[in-house]
Amino acid sequence: MTKLKAVIIGCGIGGATTAVALTGSGMDVELYEQAPELFEVGAGVGLWANALRALETVGMLEKVLSLSAGPVGTGVRRPDGQWLLRLPRDVMESRWGGGFISVHRAELHGLLVSELDPASVHLGAHCTGFEQENGRVQVRFDNGNEIEADVLIGADGVRSVVRAGLSSPARLRYRGYTNWRGVTPPRSVPLVTEGMDTWGRGGHFGLQPTSGDRILWYADATLTREARMVTTSASNCSKCSETGTTRSPP
Ligand SMILES: Cc1cc2nc3c(=O)[nH]c(=O)nc-3n(C[C@H](O)[C@H](O)[C@H](O)COP(=O)(O)OP(=O)(O)OC[C@H]3O[C@@H](n4cnc5c(N)ncnc54)[C@H](O)[C@@H]3O)c2cc1C
Repeated sequence: MTKLKAVIIGCGIGGATTAVALTGSGMDVELYEQAPELFEVGAGVGLWANALRALETVGMLEKVLSLSAGPVGTGVRRPDGQWLLRLPRDVMESRWGGGFISVHRAELHGLLVSELDPASVHLGAHCTGFEQENGRVQVRFDNGNEIEADVLIGADGVRSVVRAGLSSPARLRYRGYTNWRGVTPPRSVPLVTEGMDTWGRGGHFGLQPTSGDRILWYADATLTREARMVTTSASNCSKCSETGTTRSPP
């Protein structure tokens, strides 16, 4: 029997996970990513019970857990340290069938991509649009290439070309705050055994334990769009990249 051919646009966490899932279910999968290479970028990503259950379904749970410090509890605190909300690990597991884990985005991404056949991952391929006809889809790229498939999956992020071709482009709105993320070097700071978010006036700071005796951290500040542009250029400094600090992508 001929295998169904699926084309996935975008090799982020969503595209790579979908490729693992569909390959495992017997489809012929080709993944197209606009970036010329998949380099290590990003900082901490938190995965909740629903994500862990999805990873279990596609056979990736144990490997992803090994990137973390294991499931932990988490919660929200006031600036004086008092808990506003606390979700211990056992409560999360009994309610939702899983705890909360933190992983380095680049490590999670690298793990997912390592599960794929390298020949099925096409880099430097920017999708510009598609047409559907007679149960097939024709996908176009900016270098003039066109490919045909049974299924097209848009995993091309917030400015998705695939979504725009199906309905309308996503309307992006600046929500009034900006975010920085980082990872501490191994054994460089006292470790925490659970995640925590501290909410203050005009600011927010979070810590999450991860593998390798490291802590993933993030900080938000309430900033106007104009102030954000100034901090963006400041956070692109060489010192930030040395300490593994990234500002969340727009
Ligand atoms: C570089 C990067 C770093 C990030 N770092 C963090 C982090 O540290 N912490 C955190 O919590 N979240 C981070 N995020 C966001 C988080 O990973 C995603 O929001 C979340 O995982 C959803 O993933 P996604 O696969 O749907 O989209 P994304 O992760 O945004 O991936 C979309 C992919 O599609 C590609 N793409 C876009 N348009 C096209 C096109 N037309 N043709 C071909 N390819 C296209 C993009 O290059 C990208 O690789 C990061 C995202 C990116 C892209």
